[in-house]
Amino acid sequence: EVHQALEWAEQRSLEVRILGGGSNIVVSDAGIEGLALHVAIRGTHFETEAEAVLLRAAAGEPWDALVADAVERNLQGLECLSGIPGFVGATPIQNVGAYGQEVAETISLVRVLDRRSRKIVHLNNDQCRFEYRNSLFKSGDPERYVVLEVTYRLVPGGEPRVRYPELMHHLTERGVSGRPSLAEVRQSVLEVRRSKSMVFDVSDPNHRSCGSFFVNPVVSQSHCDAIESTATDGTMPRYAQADGRVKIPAAWLIERAGFKRGDRFGCAGISSRHSLALVCHQGARAEEVLLLARQIRDRVEQRFGVRLMPEPVFWGFSNLDDGLPVY
Ligand code: NAP
Repeated sequence: EVHQALEWAEQRSLEVRILGGGSNIVVSDAGIEGLALHVAIRGTHFETEAEAVLLRAAAGEPWDALVADAVERNLQGLECLSGIPGFVGATPIQNVGAYGQEVAETISLVRVLDRRSRKIVHLNNDQCRFEYRNSLFKSGDPERYVVLEVTYRLVPGGEPRVRYPELMHHLTERGVSGRPSLAEVRQSVLEVRRSKSMVFDVSDPNHRSCGSFFVNPVVSQSHCDAIESTATDGTMPRYAQADGRVKIPAAWLIERAGFKRGDRFGCAGISSRHSLALVCHQGARAEEVLLLARQIRDRVEQRFGVRLMPEPVFWGFSNLDDGLPVY
């Protein structure tokens, strides 16, 4: 069916866009002229291999249900990735990660349709060229592959990954002491995410967003010191990277550049629970969201010399400036 859909589009000279859950895209107000292909292939398969369990999941499997299933079977490897919207097929694209865990740690194989050769091929972990929120599929050779199935290597009874203080605090507050179970970690991740409006819930006024709108920037140590002195704030969060550079939360920069949670600009706004999420209130147009994104990027750059890079995928825009559509 994927082959047929691609051929159908080719015969009509239509552009093809692959649609997952739609939780990380901004579509132009004019829409797109082309085929939006939603890969809805379903199915999961668990297979024991030596000390691991290989979980094969079709691209159209809902992600959070898969995480819940793995946790229920006491399979370690995906627990911190609870509550993320969308489908399995999207996870390798930007190497989905949260709370110190990312899919690059567990993905062993990605089955794809190569649009260039029109053949189905299997890419191993190295071939996927995973990096922080990036991969071959996102920036290496974008648009070339349609993900059909992903295999995750999980550890039966493995120790949950609890690296982030926020998660540790939450577990402690719940009275979980010693080694938490995978289910306890999942529960805490869901609650922490919910407190930031990062679990999809239509009753939440912040629910219509792309999640994080900008990638958390990584800067040199000297740039980091300069930012701290400009901000005159000794509480600046910073996370040392293996290469000597420093990761700074984009949300912190946005707030120090003068934006507040809950700010509204027409029908677009900043989430009242997380300044990294731009929210579409009723009636919002893509143009408003992008004008707000541009204002944020410009002000952060003027104040701190950091150019924030957008995280969502943009459909229907011909003019991009460092990844952000220009009106
Ligand atoms: P957060 O927990 O407030 O963290 C903000 C930034 O600080 C992130 O860059 C995060 O790095 C970093 N950080 C926090 N604690 C850290 C620690 N103990 N060690 C190293 N780095 C640390 O972020 P948030 O916006 O509320 O998001 C929560 C989690 O969801 C984060 O891990 C974030 O990356 C993730 N997330 C992922 C996606 C995605 O895959 N597209 C989208 C939205 C949020 P990391 O980014 O490396 O975690």
